[in-house]
Amino acid sequence: MATVALPDWTRAVVKVGSALVAPDDRGCSTTHLLPIARFVIQSRRQGKEVILVSSGAVAAGLAEQGRGGPGTLSIPERQALAALGQPLLMAHWRRLFDVPCAQVLLTYDDLQRRARFVNAKNTIAELLDRDTLPIVNENDTVATEELRVGDNDNLAAYVAVLAEADLLVICSDVDGLYTADPHDTPDAERLPAVDAITDEIYDMVGPSHRKVATGGMQTKVEAAEKATDRGIDTVLVNGTKGGHLDALGRGEMPGTLFRQAEQPLPARKHWMLHALPSAGRLTVDAGAADALRHEGASLLPSGIVAVEGRFARGDAVEIAVEKGGNWTRVAKGITQYGAADLERIQGRQSHAIAEVLDEAPADYVVHRDDLVVEA
Ligand code: GLU
Repeated sequence: MATVALPDWTRAVVKVGSALVAPDDRGCSTTHLLPIARFVIQSRRQGKEVILVSSGAVAAGLAEQGRGGPGTLSIPERQALAALGQPLLMAHWRRLFDVPCAQVLLTYDDLQRRARFVNAKNTIAELLDRDTLPIVNENDTVATEELRVGDNDNLAAYVAVLAEADLLVICSDVDGLYTADPHDTPDAERLPAVDAITDEIYDMVGPSHRKVATGGMQTKVEAAEKATDRGIDTVLVNGTKGGHLDALGRGEMPGTLFRQAEQPLPARKHWMLHALPSAGRLTVDAGAADALRHEGASLLPSGIVAVEGRFARGDAVEIAVEKGGNWTRVAKGITQYGAADLERIQGRQSHAIAEVLDEAPADYVVHRDDLVVEA
C-alpha cells in the first residue's frame, strides 16, 4: 500500500477531545496536551496558522467541585460546570504557550445565522492577524439543547469552514478509522486514507463508550464530511501517542486522512446542507428524484407525493424518495411554499398553483439554485 502523506497546509483547526484534556474523566491534565502543544508551536514557527478547539470545560468544572460523576449530570448542572471549568481550561492551555490565547465561545446559532457567522469569522481572522492562538469551545452555559452543536467534533468542522482552514486535525484516543470497532473486532484494520465518506464508512463506526466525551467515531466522521465537503482535508490522529503528533509535524500520516472532496461545495450550498436545520420533508416520486439528481432540475409541485413537518416559506427541507417504508435522501433545499400550501398543491401542475392558492409567487417549489443534491 502506498504511504499516505499529510497534504501541505497553511491554516489548521486542531480539535482536542475531553479524553485528552481529562484522561480520568475529571480535571485537566498535561499528559497528552504537551505533544499537541509542541505540534502547534512548531507549526506556528513554520509560518502556519492554528486554531484550537478544546473540550474539557465540564470535566474541569467537575474536578473543581469534586462531586457527582459525569454520567449523572442534569442540563443545568452541565451548564454550571462548564461555566466553572471554562476559565480553568483556558488557564491550563495558556501555561503551554508563549503566545496570548484568546477564548472564543460559539453556539449553533452563531454558525447558522449569516450575520453572526460573519461576526465570528471576522473575530477569528483578527485574532490570527494579531498572532494569537484562538481557543474555541461551545458556549455550553447558554446553549440550550436545540441550539447546541452538541459535540466538539462537529463544532471543529464548522470552525474550520468559518476560518477558511485547509486542514482539520481531530485528536482523539484512537489510532484512526478502522474497518470495524477494534475493541470488539481484533482483526479490524485502520484505513490510512478515505477518499469519499459513503454510507459504508458510516456503517463502520459505532457510538462512543466514554462518559465525559460527547462524540465517538460517528461525530468524527460527520465532522470529516462537513469539512471535506468544503475542500478541507481532515485527519484523525491518536493524541495519546506523542509520536503520532510528531509524525504529523513532519508531514507524515499516522492516522486516517479523509481527503477533501473532488468538487467542494460553494459556501452557500455548504451552509444549506450542513448548517441550516431541516424543518420538514418532501417525499417525491421517482421521476422527480431522477430530474433532481441527473438533470439539474428545480422541484415542481407535480413531483411531490407527501409533505411532513410544519415549515414556512424560506425554510430548509429534506427531499426524499420512499421505497417500502424506507426513505432515501435525494436533496436538501429551501422551499418557496410553506407546509400548509404545499399540501394543497402537491401533485398539481405548476399552472394550477395560482388557482388553488390564489397566488403563485413561484412556479417551482425549490429552485435548482436553492438545492443541494446528494452525491
Ligand atoms: N463543550 C464540552 C466541554 O467543554 C465538550 C463537548 C465535546 O467533548 O464534544 O466539556
